Amino acid sequence: MAKWVYCFGDGKAEGGAEMRNLLGGKGANLAEMSSLGLPVPPGFTITTEVCNWHHANNSAYPPELKDEVEAGLATIEKILGAGFGDANNPLLVSVRSGARASMPGMMDTVLNLGLNDRTVLGLGKSSGDERFAYDSYRRFIQMYSNVVLDVGHHYFEEALELKKEDLGVHMDTDLKADDWRAIVAQYKKIVEKRTGKPFPQEPREQLWGAVGAVFNSWMNQRAITYRRLHAIPESWGTAVNVQAMVFGNMGEDCATGVAFTRDPSTGANLFYGEYLVNAQGEDVVAGIRTPQHLTVQGKLAQKSDAPAMEEVMPEVFGQLDAIRHKLEAHYRDMQDIEFTVQRGKLYMLQTRNGKRTAKAALKIAVDMVRDGLIDKKEAVARIVPASLDQLLHPTLDPKATRKVIAKGLPASPGAASGKIVFTADEAEKQARAGEKVILVRRETSPEDIHGMNAAQGILTSTGGMTSHAAVVARGMGKPCIAGAGDVRIDGAAGTLSVRGTVVKTGEFLTLDGTTGEIMLGVVPTVQPELSGDFAELMAWADEFRTLGIRANAETPTDAGQARKFGAEGIGLCRTEHMFFEGERIVAVREMILADDEKARRIALGKIQPMQRQDFVALFEIMAGLPVTIRLLDPPLHEFLPKTQADMEQVAKDIGVSVTEIEARANKLHEFNPMLGHRGVRLGISYPEIYEMQARAIFEAVAEVQKKHGKTVIPEIMIPLVATRKELDLMKAVIDQVASEVGQLSGEKLEYLVGTMIELPRAALRAGDIAGSAEFFSFGTNDLTQTTFGLSRDDSASFLEKYQQRGIFEHDPFASLDIEGVGELIEIACERGRKARPGLKLGICGEHGGDPASVFFCHKAGLDYVSCSPYRVPIARLAAAQAALGGPLKTE
Ligand code: PEP
Ligand code: MG
Repeated sequence: MAKWVYCFGDGKAEGGAEMRNLLGGKGANLAEMSSLGLPVPPGFTITTEVCNWHHANNSAYPPELKDEVEAGLATIEKILGAGFGDANNPLLVSVRSGARASMPGMMDTVLNLGLNDRTVLGLGKSSGDERFAYDSYRRFIQMYSNVVLDVGHHYFEEALELKKEDLGVHMDTDLKADDWRAIVAQYKKIVEKRTGKPFPQEPREQLWGAVGAVFNSWMNQRAITYRRLHAIPESWGTAVNVQAMVFGNMGEDCATGVAFTRDPSTGANLFYGEYLVNAQGEDVVAGIRTPQHLTVQGKLAQKSDAPAMEEVMPEVFGQLDAIRHKLEAHYRDMQDIEFTVQRGKLYMLQTRNGKRTAKAALKIAVDMVRDGLIDKKEAVARIVPASLDQLLHPTLDPKATRKVIAKGLPASPGAASGKIVFTADEAEKQARAGEKVILVRRETSPEDIHGMNAAQGILTSTGGMTSHAAVVARGMGKPCIAGAGDVRIDGAAGTLSVRGTVVKTGEFLTLDGTTGEIMLGVVPTVQPELSGDFAELMAWADEFRTLGIRANAETPTDAGQARKFGAEGIGLCRTEHMFFEGERIVAVREMILADDEKARRIALGKIQPMQRQDFVALFEIMAGLPVTIRLLDPPLHEFLPKTQADMEQVAKDIGVSVTEIEARANKLHEFNPMLGHRGVRLGISYPEIYEMQARAIFEAVAEVQKKHGKTVIPEIMIPLVATRKELDLMKAVIDQVASEVGQLSGEKLEYLVGTMIELPRAALRAGDIAGSAEFFSFGTNDLTQTTFGLSRDDSASFLEKYQQRGIFEHDPFASLDIEGVGELIEIACERGRKARPGLKLGICGEHGGDPASVFFCHKAGLDYVSCSPYRVPIARLAAAQAALGGPLKTE
């Protein structure tokens, strides 16, 4: 029979860390900490299976659940000697969600549950503090009513404000026990008015109401959006944790806080956290009061005047520090913990693997290998490949002038520039329109997630390093500055001001999330480098991977960057990209619009020397590494003259009238250029184009071989091939040119001729094509387009709907459709290698830098993946993880 409830507390637990699928992350770790003998308030976890059962059965519960929950309550009561609903010594509980993957702030929580008109008196007596008891009761009524009964917070907040006005006080702390008692009475009236029923007094009714609300919150819009952004399946469900309350708000010897066992921004091995004296847990996370530092060191680093916990509560701090070491040694990873101090006694409320920036993740992994906590394989498996993206983007140029207007907390590192916006919706709207934006808020809440996701960076005027904005931004890898207290935000006026400097909506700001500096305008950036821990971890990754990594690059700058990032060759040089600029485009237009072969050859003659020089530069930079050069593959429309001035220029160069040029351009117009006269089809129509390109390649090879005395072996690639015959015809042209250039230069020329596999027919006929092709490179951009019959240029507008409706799990142009396109690749690999054992196989579509696609390529037996230079490190790491059996899920 299924067991639905698992108890923990008193140094024991029925569950453990290995049961996170069933107990959720929070429940599994509470059980684990309890077994480790750490001070955890007793409680029980209702499993994720109950969540699924509940949603599958019309919001009902498994029949045995009631008894199991009763038994759970009885266990807590026994450990604490208190009674749920007992008027003299009441047990109060918290009810919290806890999914398998952490979803900070996404789902609902109820605290102080069990309070009613009778137990509040008992709490007053047992705590010796009546004011505290009524304060807790009013907090409970508000939270419960909001979460379970759907009564808006503002009703309660307004009532409280009015009461304070009546009394002529400003702060909650000015209210006395009698005031809170009066407020409680008023709150109950609000509930009755809004719901038509009195506030539930029966603790068991309260408990089931809260449990139901937590399960239902799994299906709220916030949670659904979060799951979509983080690829969390709905089927995981959430668990519910019911745990005895401990209070951090019973007086000055109480506190509550959150901490990381190492610095989550930099990874430094320093205890890093924040606390608030006399506060309840949510106060720290909500970012409403600015918290104090745990350590003196942290306090000094942030130039804070508020005393550190280390100073205020040295004994408790010592215990917490010991727990920090114990948890790290046990979990062998950086932990994110929550704790409460009740009357000088420390309680642990949570531990989990802490979210961290990519930089911190690398440092922690490398440090832990050095300290012998984990081995290199585990270090490599732990880093999320896509997260490296954070480190592969430009950072602010240290030499640039910075007009710093204010400083806040460096909550999530990196540089971001953008136009300022004040709402999440506006951020999303502007980002859709292609703008870069900085989202500016007093504080963020889970409702802002979509805007944070759309923004380049986030700036808040309140909140600490563990505020919602800080935690979520770090998770997203976005720069964030939090708690910039000098910044005044006037959302209605659309302005942000700092001591007289006013910045309006739409004006640019730059954030340096590493230093906390807020700057006017756009500050120039510098290219990233691969060094330190990053370089070390990448070297370990290279020890494990078997897949080769190349880059898609045409220009010397890109090729150089690719090499710096560890590319082992060029997998795709798109020669048409070498023609986009200046004089070249003019010559290319001349070539396209030429009326006959003679005219075309004249235009080609102008282009050839430029092409040769480009190839010389490329071969020199790549210094003997393989270079795959793809012959011309332009959808012609990209090159046709569009403006009147362009037309006139081409007309002048060719020596015909503008009307004639217009007529020729019209003749070349295609309805479906992507499926039109491009790729090898162009080579078949005008072999002189490929002939010119082959000549430029071989002359460059001869030149570089002569100059450096080293063999260069170019890999010449024919695009958009559907049949072997197309390839054969083009190969004959290439072989002919090679023999001519070989004779003329006296150099021995070695080369490969291969093809892209970009059409389903080519994949199916791979056995035949491999008879002529010496290598295949999967052009999965076109292969995706042609397999789905989806235009790569036009599908963005409706693909989002497809993802929202769950037809596509992800954009097939970003992450390979393994089921469909992947099957074609597998077929082509198998048939190709059968016909030509040892056939070299690679991929050069955008998917070459997508980790999930890289895993697939490893499994499919490809020799290499080729991606944009900036994704080379991501591909190296993904390839290593693929060789190690897949990525390690640390959360
Ligand atoms: C491809 O189709 O995947 C490819 C790499 O070629 P291009 O993107 O230039 O069409
Ligand atoms: Mg293509």
